[in-house]
Amino acid sequence: MKPIWGIDLGGTKIEAVVVDADNRYQTIARLRVPTEQEKGYEHIVSQIAKLIGMLKDETGLTPTKIGIGTPGALDPQLNTLKNSNTTCLIGKPLKDDVEKALGLSILMANDANCFALAEARLGIVPDQVPNAEVVFGVIMGTGVGGGIVVHGKVLNGLQGIAGEWGHNFLDESGGLCYCGKTGCVETILSGPNLQRYYTSISGEERKLKEIVERAQAGTDPHAAATLDRLVEFFGKGLASIINLLDPDAIVLGGGVSNIGVLYDRGVAEVEKYVFNHKMYTPILRPKLGDSAGVFGAAMLVE
Ligand SMILES: [Zn+2]
Repeated sequence: MKPIWGIDLGGTKIEAVVVDADNRYQTIARLRVPTEQEKGYEHIVSQIAKLIGMLKDETGLTPTKIGIGTPGALDPQLNTLKNSNTTCLIGKPLKDDVEKALGLSILMANDANCFALAEARLGIVPDQVPNAEVVFGVIMGTGVGGGIVVHGKVLNGLQGIAGEWGHNFLDESGGLCYCGKTGCVETILSGPNLQRYYTSISGEERKLKEIVERAQAGTDPHAAATLDRLVEFFGKGLASIINLLDPDAIVLGGGVSNIGVLYDRGVAEVEKYVFNHKMYTPILRPKLGDSAGVFGAAMLVE
């Protein structure tokens, strides 16, 4: 048995897992505590410590290093967290502080990198593309984040932003992004921004799920236009990833990835913009669901 430990630090809950890396990442134990981010940064660090204490008690095991998936990324130059939607973490030396609190070493990556890693090693990629060397994973949900896995390892990059497709420029019509720039992929393809677009043309507020249902039913031209726009910019945006990286597989995650048109009309639209006579790149639905983040975090230590 080779137990590895991972933590998925989310905005509402912190989840931790111990899995057996020698046995297809079988779960040995899995626990969660609330993040309670409103109580501030120090509280989050103490919640992480509490959770690891609980896992030690439950398993009788003691880790020497732990992987953590975080919202945002650790800045390799400053050693502090950046680009996080859990804003109390921004600018904090989270890695150092958790290492101090736990007395062990921490490997940290953003949650989209952990998603990509888990799907590449254990999820849909080994099932569908067994010899994949380069995998691009993208989470299209509240925001849009991405990660690149090469030969089973996360590619971090000089600035810790490798794979951050969500903040590539896509189109001015997306408007201002929370990151301070304009027209980012996220301003067009994230769930909240799809809803915002629907409201802007229909004058009505609806949840994404309902917009998709109305488009499928053929009863709402504004819903259809929202999905047409999603398909168009999904194609334009993702084709640039393929031209640059030419990955062996792309895995989509997050709420927006449940929208079926991405896998037929969306794929056809990507193909229109790819610099090749045909597009062979498999664009896959994820397999691990909510577990990808915490499994990917554990895999960081390998
Ligand atoms: Zn942005």
